[in-house]
Amino acid sequence: MPVEVGWAHETGHPETLDILLLGPGYGESLIARIPPGVLLVVDCFRSQEGGSKGRNVVLDFLESRHEPLEALVLTHPHEDHAQGLGDLVQSRTGCRVGCCEPLWITPYQLLQKDPDLMRRLAEGACGQSLAAIRTCWGREPSRRWLLEAGSVREVGEARLTVLHPTALKLREVREGARKARPNALSSPILLEWRELRLLLGADLASSGWPQVHRASDLRHHHGFKVAHHASKNAFHLETLRPTARPPWFTTPWSRAGQELPNFKDRNGVARILGVVDALLLTSLPFAVPDSEKRTWGRSELLRATAAEDPEIPGARVAREADVGPEEGWLALAFEESGCCSDVRFGRRAVTVRD
Ligand SMILES: [Zn+2]
Repeated sequence: MPVEVGWAHETGHPETLDILLLGPGYGESLIARIPPGVLLVVDCFRSQEGGSKGRNVVLDFLESRHEPLEALVLTHPHEDHAQGLGDLVQSRTGCRVGCCEPLWITPYQLLQKDPDLMRRLAEGACGQSLAAIRTCWGREPSRRWLLEAGSVREVGEARLTVLHPTALKLREVREGARKARPNALSSPILLEWRELRLLLGADLASSGWPQVHRASDLRHHHGFKVAHHASKNAFHLETLRPTARPPWFTTPWSRAGQELPNFKDRNGVARILGVVDALLLTSLPFAVPDSEKRTWGRSELLRATAAEDPEIPGARVAREADVGPEEGWLALAFEESGCCSDVRFGRRAVTVRD
């Protein structure tokens, strides 16, 4: 029996800030319900099922709710984060629309020199979403929110601070000294409400975090949407090592036999479990024999997924997780003190411990 996608407290606790993270194996979107009852969407995917266009479960979710969408953010133009965002820009009028860099909107000299990159951006799966943002910003300049380090916006009672990219990095890209890689320019956001500090990590790779660190002490946080699907390269220990043991949560990335996160020793999850007790995942990045199991030890996952393991019947051959768009999600409720008071799991969400 599928559990319907929803908040940790469906009937409404006005005194919590709620996070809903969707990630069925490929694609990520985070929805925050911020007191006194407005919504923020960070990134938006389309599920691959339901015809060539796919189905937008985030849009479906928003349409079933009465709270207004106040802001919409694209952290970086990669297909798994951007593909469904254009649908929201077009259908939810009035909300502010944040985008990581004008680079993707206005061709700078660098991009004009690289027609191949221009073409891929325009024609790729993100192209529609970027075009929708461009049109929206052009027609309604008041909706434009340019994401770069230091930019601050109020959404409901919360304060959002964009942590990256820095002005220096953007200048280097414009001047051609640095390549315009989406992950390297992606925009993590610090969300603050009363005592609560939540770190929404986008897909910023590890080398980007020290720059962010200079702007704000990120070790003090009450929850972290782990960057880049908990890959080895996403995790910058010094910057992110938490002062307490807050919930860390993320989505997997699974495509054509390549998978994130990786559960092997010294890889992403192992490093994360060196500093927090558990990592919450909206779903696993691969199929496991026991898909109803909710709590996994890291070594158990390694065993269950080792193709050569003779003790496990049906041990895997590399294949994608095959998670339905409404099965891979997590809902967390945070009190004003910052404490995470409740977590609700979609049917395929798991907790991984060491
Ligand atoms: Zn991603």
